[in-house]
Amino acid sequence: MNKASVRLTTSMLILAGMALMSLLISAANGAERRPNFVIIYADDLGYGDLGCFGHPTIRTPHLDRMAGEGLRFTQFYSASPVCTPSRAALMTGRLPIRSGMCSDKRRVLFPNSGGGIPADEVTLAEALKAQGYATGCFGKWHLGHLPQFLPTNNGFDTYYGIPYSNDMDRLNDVGPQGRAAFWAPKIEYWNVPLMRGTEIIERPADQTTITRRYTDQAIEFMHSHKDEPFLVYLPHSMVHIPLFRSDEFAGKSARGLYGDCLEEVDWSVGQVLQALRDLQLDEQTLVFFSSDNGPWLSYNEQGGSAGLLKDGKGTTFEGGMREPTIAWWPGHIEPGRVTQELGSTMDIFTTCVTLAGGDVPADRVIDGVDLSPVLFDAGPSNRKSVLYYRGTQLMAVRLGPWKAHYFTQTSYRKEGNPREAHDPPLLYHLDHDPSERFNLNEDHPEVLAQIDALVAEHRQHLDPPRSQLEIPLAGAGD
Ligand code: MG
Repeated sequence: MNKASVRLTTSMLILAGMALMSLLISAANGAERRPNFVIIYADDLGYGDLGCFGHPTIRTPHLDRMAGEGLRFTQFYSASPVCTPSRAALMTGRLPIRSGMCSDKRRVLFPNSGGGIPADEVTLAEALKAQGYATGCFGKWHLGHLPQFLPTNNGFDTYYGIPYSNDMDRLNDVGPQGRAAFWAPKIEYWNVPLMRGTEIIERPADQTTITRRYTDQAIEFMHSHKDEPFLVYLPHSMVHIPLFRSDEFAGKSARGLYGDCLEEVDWSVGQVLQALRDLQLDEQTLVFFSSDNGPWLSYNEQGGSAGLLKDGKGTTFEGGMREPTIAWWPGHIEPGRVTQELGSTMDIFTTCVTLAGGDVPADRVIDGVDLSPVLFDAGPSNRKSVLYYRGTQLMAVRLGPWKAHYFTQTSYRKEGNPREAHDPPLLYHLDHDPSERFNLNEDHPEVLAQIDALVAEHRQHLDPPRSQLEIPLAGAGD
Protein backbone atom coordinates (compact mmCIF):
# COMPACT_ATOMS: atom_id res chain seq x y z
CA MET A 1 0.00 0.00 0.00
CA ASN A 2 1.51 3.38 -0.99
CA LYS A 3 1.35 6.54 1.17
CA ALA A 4 -1.58 7.99 -0.78
CA SER A 5 -3.66 4.84 -0.27
CA VAL A 6 -2.80 4.82 3.43
CA ARG A 7 -3.89 8.45 3.72
CA LEU A 8 -7.11 7.70 1.81
CA THR A 9 -7.88 4.65 3.93
CA THR A 10 -7.14 6.61 7.10
CA SER A 11 -9.41 9.46 6.04
CA MET A 12 -12.14 6.97 5.15
CA LEU A 13 -11.81 5.34 8.55
CA ILE A 14 -12.00 8.73 10.25
CA LEU A 15 -15.06 9.68 8.21
CA ALA A 16 -16.70 6.32 8.95
CA GLY A 17 -15.88 6.79 12.62
CA MET A 18 -17.40 10.26 12.61
CA ALA A 19 -20.54 8.99 10.88
CA LEU A 20 -20.84 6.20 13.44
CA MET A 21 -20.38 8.67 16.31
CA SER A 22 -23.04 10.95 14.90
CA LEU A 23 -25.39 7.99 14.48
CA LEU A 24 -24.75 6.94 18.08
CA ILE A 25 -25.31 10.50 19.33
CA SER A 26 -28.56 10.89 17.43
CA ALA A 27 -29.71 7.46 18.66
CA ALA A 28 -28.88 8.53 22.21
CA ASN A 29 -30.76 11.79 21.73
CA GLY A 30 -33.69 9.89 20.29
CA ALA A 31 -33.72 7.61 23.30
CA GLU A 32 -33.61 10.60 25.63
CA ARG A 33 -36.45 12.45 23.98
CA ARG A 34 -39.73 11.17 25.39
CA PRO A 35 -42.78 11.37 23.11
CA ASN A 36 -45.04 14.39 23.16
CA PHE A 37 -48.72 13.77 23.73
CA VAL A 38 -51.64 15.60 22.16
CA ILE A 39 -55.15 14.67 23.26
CA ILE A 40 -57.94 16.16 21.16
CA TYR A 41 -61.27 15.62 22.86
CA ALA A 42 -64.55 16.50 21.15
CA ASP A 43 -67.70 17.18 23.16
CA ASP A 44 -70.88 15.13 22.62
CA LEU A 45 -69.60 13.71 19.33
CA GLY A 46 -71.45 10.62 18.12
CA TYR A 47 -69.86 7.33 17.11
CA GLY A 48 -71.36 7.71 13.64
CA ASP A 49 -70.45 11.34 12.95
CA LEU A 50 -67.05 11.08 11.24
CA GLY A 51 -66.48 10.22 7.61
CA CYS A 52 -64.05 7.48 8.65
CA PHE A 53 -66.72 6.06 10.98
CA GLY A 54 -69.34 5.98 8.24
CA HIS A 55 -71.18 9.31 8.22
CA PRO A 56 -72.60 9.80 4.71
CA THR A 57 -72.52 13.62 4.50
CA ILE A 58 -70.30 15.20 7.19
CA ARG A 59 -66.87 15.85 5.64
CA THR A 60 -63.94 15.09 7.94
CA PRO A 61 -60.95 14.85 5.58
CA HIS A 62 -58.39 15.60 8.29
CA LEU A 63 -59.69 13.01 10.72
CA ASP A 64 -60.01 10.57 7.83
CA ARG A 65 -56.36 11.23 6.93
CA MET A 66 -55.38 10.87 10.61
CA ALA A 67 -57.11 7.46 10.61
CA GLY A 68 -55.41 6.55 7.32
CA GLU A 69 -52.01 7.35 8.80
CA GLY A 70 -52.84 5.92 12.22
CA LEU A 71 -55.02 3.47 14.11
CA ARG A 72 -58.81 3.53 14.32
CA PHE A 73 -60.48 1.98 17.36
CA THR A 74 -63.98 0.57 16.82
CA GLN A 75 -64.49 -0.43 20.47
CA PHE A 76 -63.16 2.43 22.56
CA TYR A 77 -65.10 3.82 25.52
CA SER A 78 -65.41 6.86 27.69
CA ALA A 79 -65.84 6.15 31.41
CA SER A 80 -69.14 8.00 31.67
CA PRO A 81 -71.96 9.10 29.36
CA VAL A 82 -71.75 12.76 30.55
CA CYS A 83 -69.11 15.49 30.57
CA THR A 84 -67.68 16.00 34.07
CA PRO A 85 -67.23 12.36 35.12
CA SER A 86 -65.87 11.44 31.68
CA ARG A 87 -63.23 14.19 31.81
CA ALA A 88 -62.28 13.32 35.40
CA ALA A 89 -61.65 9.74 34.28
CA LEU A 90 -59.54 10.83 31.30
CA MET A 91 -57.43 13.07 33.54
CA THR A 92 -56.95 10.53 36.37
CA GLY A 93 -57.13 7.09 34.74
CA ARG A 94 -59.75 6.25 37.36
CA LEU A 95 -63.47 5.58 37.36
CA PRO A 96 -65.30 8.73 38.51
CA ILE A 97 -66.82 6.78 41.42
CA ARG A 98 -63.30 6.63 42.93
CA SER A 99 -62.65 10.40 42.82
CA GLY A 100 -66.12 11.61 43.82
CA MET A 101 -66.51 13.22 40.39
CA CYS A 102 -69.99 11.78 39.79
CA SER A 103 -73.43 12.01 41.34
CA ASP A 104 -76.98 10.74 40.95
CA LYS A 105 -78.43 14.14 41.88
CA ARG A 106 -76.38 16.48 39.71
CA ARG A 107 -74.83 14.68 36.82
CA VAL A 108 -72.17 17.31 36.03
CA LEU A 109 -70.66 20.43 37.63
CA PHE A 110 -72.58 23.72 37.21
CA PRO A 111 -71.67 27.38 37.74
CA ASN A 112 -73.29 27.07 41.20
CA SER A 113 -71.20 24.03 42.13
CA GLY A 114 -68.58 24.38 44.84
CA GLY A 115 -66.70 21.14 44.15
CA GLY A 116 -64.15 19.99 41.62
CA ILE A 117 -61.27 17.64 41.00
CA PRO A 118 -59.90 16.74 44.46
CA ALA A 119 -56.36 17.90 45.24
CA ASP A 120 -55.22 14.38 46.05
CA GLU A 121 -56.08 13.07 42.58
CA VAL A 122 -53.04 12.79 40.30
CA THR A 123 -53.92 14.28 36.92
CA LEU A 124 -52.22 13.27 33.69
CA ALA A 125 -50.69 16.74 33.60
CA GLU A 126 -49.27 16.32 37.12
CA ALA A 127 -47.90 12.87 36.31
CA LEU A 128 -46.22 14.17 33.13
CA LYS A 129 -44.93 17.33 34.81
CA ALA A 130 -43.10 15.04 37.22
CA GLN A 131 -41.37 13.60 34.14
CA GLY A 132 -40.31 17.08 32.95
CA TYR A 133 -43.14 17.77 30.48
CA ALA A 134 -44.50 21.18 29.54
CA THR A 135 -48.29 21.01 29.84
CA GLY A 136 -51.02 23.09 28.22
CA CYS A 137 -54.82 22.87 28.27
CA PHE A 138 -56.85 24.66 25.59
CA GLY A 139 -60.62 24.28 25.76
CA LYS A 140 -63.44 23.13 27.98
CA TRP A 141 -62.27 21.99 31.42
CA HIS A 142 -65.42 21.12 33.41
CA LEU A 143 -63.60 19.74 36.46
CA GLY A 144 -64.42 22.73 38.71
CA HIS A 145 -64.36 26.47 38.05
CA LEU A 146 -63.09 27.69 41.44
CA PRO A 147 -59.38 28.60 41.38
CA GLN A 148 -58.15 25.48 43.18
CA PHE A 149 -59.85 23.24 40.62
CA LEU A 150 -58.70 24.99 37.44
CA PRO A 151 -56.09 23.41 35.13
CA THR A 152 -53.23 25.66 36.28
CA ASN A 153 -53.69 24.30 39.81
CA ASN A 154 -53.87 20.73 38.56
CA GLY A 155 -50.65 20.23 36.64
CA PHE A 156 -51.07 22.48 33.60
CA ASP A 157 -48.60 25.32 33.01
CA THR A 158 -51.05 27.07 30.72
CA TYR A 159 -54.82 27.24 30.41
CA TYR A 160 -57.01 28.99 27.85
CA GLY A 161 -60.66 28.03 27.65
CA ILE A 162 -64.09 27.84 29.21
CA PRO A 163 -64.38 26.33 32.71
CA TYR A 164 -67.65 24.44 32.13
CA SER A 165 -70.15 23.66 29.37
CA ASN A 166 -70.95 26.24 26.73
CA ASP A 167 -74.71 26.01 27.47
CA MET A 168 -74.31 27.12 31.10
CA ASP A 169 -74.81 30.62 32.51
CA ARG A 170 -77.97 31.01 30.40
CA LEU A 171 -79.23 34.58 30.66
CA ASN A 172 -82.95 34.15 31.19
CA ASP A 173 -83.87 37.65 30.08
CA VAL A 174 -82.12 37.43 26.71
CA GLY A 175 -83.46 35.68 23.60
CA PRO A 176 -86.08 32.96 23.31
CA GLN A 177 -86.60 30.84 26.40
CA GLY A 178 -86.21 27.10 26.78
CA ARG A 179 -84.96 24.85 24.04
CA ALA A 180 -85.84 27.36 21.33
CA ALA A 181 -82.62 29.24 22.19
CA PHE A 182 -80.62 26.34 20.78
CA TRP A 183 -82.33 26.30 17.38
CA ALA A 184 -80.90 29.73 16.45
CA PRO A 185 -78.22 30.34 19.09
CA LYS A 186 -76.65 33.74 19.65
CA ILE A 187 -73.49 34.34 21.71
CA GLU A 188 -75.20 36.73 24.10
CA TYR A 189 -77.72 34.14 25.32
CA TRP A 190 -75.03 32.43 27.39
CA ASN A 191 -72.75 34.37 29.74
CA VAL A 192 -69.97 31.78 29.56
CA PRO A 193 -66.55 33.07 30.65
CA LEU A 194 -63.36 32.58 28.64
CA MET A 195 -60.36 32.22 30.94
CA ARG A 196 -56.61 32.45 30.72
CA GLY A 197 -55.04 30.81 33.73
CA THR A 198 -57.38 31.71 36.57
CA GLU A 199 -58.54 35.05 35.10
CA ILE A 200 -61.67 35.73 33.09
CA ILE A 201 -60.59 37.52 29.90
CA GLU A 202 -63.86 37.64 27.94
CA ARG A 203 -67.52 37.30 28.90
CA PRO A 204 -69.61 36.14 27.24
CA ALA A 205 -67.05 34.16 25.30
CA ASP A 206 -67.32 34.69 21.55
CA GLN A 207 -68.14 31.08 20.76
CA THR A 208 -68.14 31.64 16.99
CA THR A 209 -64.34 31.90 16.99
CA ILE A 210 -63.62 29.61 19.91
CA THR A 211 -62.69 26.46 17.94
CA ARG A 212 -60.22 28.52 15.93
CA ARG A 213 -58.76 30.24 18.99
CA TYR A 214 -58.25 27.02 20.99
CA THR A 215 -56.44 25.66 17.95
CA ASP A 216 -54.21 28.71 17.53
CA GLN A 217 -53.31 28.71 21.23
CA ALA A 218 -52.47 24.99 21.19
CA ILE A 219 -50.24 25.38 18.12
CA GLU A 220 -48.49 28.40 19.61
CA PHE A 221 -47.78 26.32 22.73
CA MET A 222 -46.30 23.50 20.62
CA HIS A 223 -44.04 26.00 18.85
CA SER A 224 -42.77 27.51 22.08
CA HIS A 225 -42.12 24.09 23.65
CA LYS A 226 -40.80 22.28 20.58
CA ASP A 227 -37.47 21.52 22.23
CA GLU A 228 -38.87 19.75 25.28
CA PRO A 229 -41.48 17.01 25.76
CA PHE A 230 -45.01 18.38 26.03
CA LEU A 231 -48.63 17.48 26.71
CA VAL A 232 -51.28 19.38 24.80
CA TYR A 233 -54.84 18.73 25.98
CA LEU A 234 -57.28 20.22 23.46
CA PRO A 235 -60.85 19.59 24.66
CA HIS A 236 -63.04 21.41 22.12
CA SER A 237 -66.31 22.82 23.41
CA MET A 238 -67.93 21.83 20.10
CA VAL A 239 -70.05 19.90 19.11
CA HIS A 240 -71.99 20.44 22.35
CA ILE A 241 -75.06 22.67 22.02
CA PRO A 242 -75.37 25.64 21.55
CA LEU A 243 -73.61 25.15 18.22
CA PHE A 244 -71.29 27.89 16.95
CA ARG A 245 -68.80 28.06 14.09
CA SER A 246 -66.73 30.76 12.45
CA ASP A 247 -67.82 32.55 9.26
CA GLU A 248 -65.53 30.34 7.17
CA PHE A 249 -67.61 27.28 8.03
CA ALA A 250 -71.07 28.87 8.07
CA GLY A 251 -73.50 27.07 5.81
CA LYS A 252 -70.80 24.85 4.30
CA SER A 253 -71.88 21.39 5.47
CA ALA A 254 -74.68 19.32 3.97
CA ARG A 255 -75.43 18.27 7.57
CA GLY A 256 -76.47 21.80 8.62
CA LEU A 257 -75.23 23.67 11.67
CA TYR A 258 -74.02 20.53 13.46
CA GLY A 259 -72.04 19.53 10.36
CA ASP A 260 -70.55 23.04 10.03
CA CYS A 261 -69.31 22.88 13.64
CA LEU A 262 -67.88 19.40 13.31
CA GLU A 263 -66.17 20.27 10.03
CA GLU A 264 -64.45 23.13 11.88
CA VAL A 265 -63.28 20.71 14.59
CA ASP A 266 -61.95 18.53 11.77
CA TRP A 267 -60.12 21.58 10.36
CA SER A 268 -58.61 22.07 13.81
CA VAL A 269 -57.29 18.51 13.84
CA GLY A 270 -55.72 19.11 10.42
CA GLN A 271 -54.02 22.28 11.69
CA VAL A 272 -52.58 20.53 14.75
CA LEU A 273 -51.21 17.57 12.77
CA GLN A 274 -49.75 19.88 10.12
CA ALA A 275 -48.07 21.97 12.83
CA LEU A 276 -46.45 18.78 14.16
CA ARG A 277 -45.20 17.93 10.67
CA ASP A 278 -43.89 21.48 10.16
CA LEU A 279 -42.05 21.31 13.49
CA GLN A 280 -40.69 17.87 12.50
CA LEU A 281 -42.27 16.52 15.65
CA ASP A 282 -44.73 14.15 13.96
CA GLU A 283 -42.56 11.11 14.63
CA GLN A 284 -42.13 12.20 18.24
CA THR A 285 -45.78 12.82 19.05
CA LEU A 286 -48.59 10.46 19.95
CA VAL A 287 -51.95 12.05 19.19
CA PHE A 288 -55.30 10.71 20.39
CA PHE A 289 -58.67 11.90 19.13
CA SER A 290 -61.83 10.89 21.02
CA SER A 291 -64.98 12.30 22.63
CA ASP A 292 -66.25 12.65 26.19
CA ASN A 293 -69.64 11.00 25.56
CA GLY A 294 -72.11 10.16 22.84
CA PRO A 295 -74.51 12.43 20.93
CA TRP A 296 -77.20 14.45 22.68
CA LEU A 297 -80.08 12.87 20.78
CA SER A 298 -82.84 14.76 22.53
CA TYR A 299 -81.68 17.94 20.79
CA ASN A 300 -82.88 16.60 17.45
CA GLU A 301 -80.81 17.85 14.51
CA GLN A 302 -78.53 19.84 16.85
CA GLY A 303 -77.29 16.55 18.32
CA GLY A 304 -75.06 14.04 16.53
CA SER A 305 -75.56 10.42 15.57
CA ALA A 306 -74.39 7.23 17.24
CA GLY A 307 -74.63 5.41 13.90
CA LEU A 308 -75.65 1.82 14.40
CA LEU A 309 -75.25 2.05 18.16
CA LYS A 310 -78.21 2.30 20.52
CA ASP A 311 -79.24 5.57 22.22
CA GLY A 312 -76.77 8.36 23.10
CA LYS A 313 -75.46 10.80 25.70
CA GLY A 314 -76.58 10.23 29.26
CA THR A 315 -77.20 6.50 28.78
CA THR A 316 -75.14 3.38 29.30
CA PHE A 317 -76.20 1.89 25.98
CA GLU A 318 -73.36 1.75 23.47
CA GLY A 319 -74.33 5.08 21.87
CA GLY A 320 -73.71 6.85 25.17
CA MET A 321 -70.17 5.69 25.79
CA ARG A 322 -68.53 4.13 22.71
CA GLU A 323 -66.47 6.87 21.07
CA PRO A 324 -64.99 7.34 17.59
CA THR A 325 -61.29 7.15 18.53
CA ILE A 326 -58.10 7.49 16.51
CA ALA A 327 -54.46 7.18 17.58
CA TRP A 328 -51.69 8.67 15.39
CA TRP A 329 -47.94 8.45 15.69
CA PRO A 330 -46.07 8.27 12.35
CA GLY A 331 -43.16 5.86 12.37
CA HIS A 332 -44.52 4.06 15.44
CA ILE A 333 -48.14 3.19 14.66
CA GLU A 334 -48.62 1.27 11.43
CA PRO A 335 -50.72 3.41 9.05
CA GLY A 336 -54.29 2.52 8.26
CA ARG A 337 -54.89 -0.15 10.87
CA VAL A 338 -58.29 -0.73 12.43
CA THR A 339 -58.51 -2.51 15.76
CA GLN A 340 -61.47 -4.19 17.41
CA GLU A 341 -59.53 -4.48 20.68
CA LEU A 342 -61.05 -2.78 23.71
CA GLY A 343 -59.82 0.59 24.93
CA SER A 344 -60.96 3.32 27.33
CA THR A 345 -60.18 6.99 27.73
CA MET A 346 -58.81 5.98 31.16
CA ASP A 347 -56.17 3.95 29.29
CA ILE A 348 -54.85 7.15 27.71
CA PHE A 349 -53.64 8.14 31.20
CA THR A 350 -51.75 4.92 31.83
CA THR A 351 -50.39 4.69 28.28
CA CYS A 352 -49.01 8.23 28.27
CA VAL A 353 -47.50 8.04 31.76
CA THR A 354 -45.84 4.73 30.89
CA LEU A 355 -44.47 5.93 27.52
CA ALA A 356 -43.10 9.03 29.29
CA GLY A 357 -41.04 6.74 31.50
CA GLY A 358 -43.12 7.31 34.62
CA ASP A 359 -45.07 4.98 36.85
CA VAL A 360 -48.79 5.29 37.47
CA PRO A 361 -49.60 6.03 41.14
CA ALA A 362 -49.28 2.84 43.19
CA ASP A 363 -51.17 4.04 46.28
CA ARG A 364 -54.65 3.87 44.69
CA VAL A 365 -56.67 1.88 42.21
CA ILE A 366 -55.91 2.94 38.62
CA ASP A 367 -58.47 1.66 36.13
CA GLY A 368 -56.53 2.56 32.99
CA VAL A 369 -54.30 -0.02 31.30
CA ASP A 370 -51.34 0.46 28.97
CA LEU A 371 -52.58 0.32 25.37
CA SER A 372 -49.07 -0.07 23.90
CA PRO A 373 -49.69 -3.66 22.69
CA VAL A 374 -52.65 -2.41 20.64
CA LEU A 375 -50.97 0.78 19.42
CA PHE A 376 -47.86 -1.04 18.24
CA ASP A 377 -49.63 -4.21 17.05
CA ALA A 378 -47.75 -6.31 19.58
CA GLY A 379 -50.63 -8.32 21.04
CA PRO A 380 -54.13 -8.19 22.45
CA SER A 381 -55.37 -5.32 24.58
CA ASN A 382 -54.67 -5.32 28.30
CA ARG A 383 -58.32 -4.26 28.65
CA LYS A 384 -60.78 -7.14 28.82
CA SER A 385 -63.81 -5.46 30.36
CA VAL A 386 -65.75 -2.19 30.47
CA LEU A 387 -67.79 -0.90 33.42
CA TYR A 388 -70.71 1.35 32.48
CA TYR A 389 -71.59 3.75 35.29
CA ARG A 390 -74.44 6.25 35.31
CA GLY A 391 -73.66 8.53 38.25
CA THR A 392 -72.78 6.19 41.12
CA GLN A 393 -74.78 3.25 39.75
CA LEU A 394 -73.05 0.44 37.90
CA MET A 395 -75.61 -0.13 35.15
CA ALA A 396 -73.87 -2.58 32.81
CA VAL A 397 -70.66 -4.54 32.32
CA ARG A 398 -68.88 -5.70 29.20
CA LEU A 399 -66.64 -8.76 29.33
CA GLY A 400 -65.06 -9.66 25.97
CA PRO A 401 -67.90 -9.46 23.42
CA TRP A 402 -70.65 -9.82 26.04
CA LYS A 403 -72.50 -6.98 27.70
CA ALA A 404 -74.88 -7.45 30.63
CA HIS A 405 -77.30 -4.68 31.59
CA TYR A 406 -78.29 -4.84 35.28
CA PHE A 407 -80.25 -1.63 34.80
CA THR A 408 -81.32 0.33 31.73
CA GLN A 409 -82.53 3.90 31.40
CA THR A 410 -82.77 6.13 28.38
CA SER A 411 -81.55 9.71 27.93
CA TYR A 412 -82.16 11.91 30.95
CA ARG A 413 -83.76 14.68 28.94
CA LYS A 414 -86.51 12.44 27.65
CA GLU A 415 -89.89 12.25 29.35
CA GLY A 416 -90.85 9.04 31.09
CA ASN A 417 -87.44 7.44 31.36
CA PRO A 418 -87.71 5.33 34.50
CA ARG A 419 -84.78 3.12 35.47
CA GLU A 420 -85.58 -0.55 34.85
CA ALA A 421 -83.87 -3.31 36.84
CA HIS A 422 -83.15 -6.61 35.08
CA ASP A 423 -82.77 -9.89 36.93
CA PRO A 424 -81.30 -11.76 35.25
CA PRO A 425 -79.50 -8.95 33.43
CA LEU A 426 -80.16 -8.38 29.72
CA LEU A 427 -77.31 -9.96 27.79
CA TYR A 428 -76.07 -8.90 24.35
CA HIS A 429 -73.25 -10.19 22.18
CA LEU A 430 -71.82 -6.90 20.92
CA ASP A 431 -69.70 -8.42 18.15
CA HIS A 432 -72.80 -9.97 16.62
CA ASP A 433 -75.27 -7.36 17.78
CA PRO A 434 -73.69 -3.92 18.23
CA SER A 435 -77.14 -2.31 18.30
CA GLU A 436 -78.13 -4.27 21.47
CA ARG A 437 -81.32 -5.74 20.08
CA PHE A 438 -81.27 -9.46 20.82
CA ASN A 439 -81.28 -10.45 24.49
CA LEU A 440 -79.55 -13.82 25.01
CA ASN A 441 -79.65 -14.06 28.80
CA GLU A 442 -81.62 -17.34 28.83
CA ASP A 443 -79.05 -19.03 26.60
CA HIS A 444 -75.88 -18.06 28.45
CA PRO A 445 -76.16 -18.29 32.25
CA GLU A 446 -72.42 -19.16 32.36
CA VAL A 447 -71.54 -15.76 30.86
CA LEU A 448 -73.76 -14.00 33.40
CA ALA A 449 -72.02 -15.91 36.21
CA GLN A 450 -68.63 -14.72 34.93
CA ILE A 451 -69.83 -11.12 34.78
CA ASP A 452 -71.37 -11.37 38.26
CA ALA A 453 -68.00 -12.54 39.58
CA LEU A 454 -66.27 -9.59 37.89
CA VAL A 455 -68.75 -7.19 39.54
CA ALA A 456 -68.20 -8.79 42.97
CA GLU A 457 -64.42 -8.43 42.55
CA HIS A 458 -64.80 -4.80 41.43
CA ARG A 459 -66.93 -3.95 44.47
CA GLN A 460 -64.31 -5.35 46.86
CA HIS A 461 -61.96 -2.56 45.84
CA LEU A 462 -64.42 0.30 45.86
CA ASP A 463 -64.51 3.01 48.50
CA PRO A 464 -66.42 5.99 47.05
CA PRO A 465 -65.60 9.36 48.64
CA ARG A 466 -68.03 12.27 49.03
CA SER A 467 -69.47 13.48 45.73
CA GLN A 468 -67.82 16.68 44.53
CA LEU A 469 -70.77 17.36 42.24
CA GLU A 470 -73.16 17.78 45.19
CA ILE A 471 -71.11 20.45 46.98
CA PRO A 472 -72.90 23.81 46.57
CA LEU A 473 -71.05 27.03 45.89
CA ALA A 474 -70.86 29.02 49.10
CA GLY A 475 -73.76 31.48 49.04
CA ALA A 476 -75.43 29.85 46.01
CA GLY A 477 -78.71 27.99 46.03
CA ASP A 478 -78.82 24.55 44.42
MG1 MG B 1 -70.05 16.05 26.66
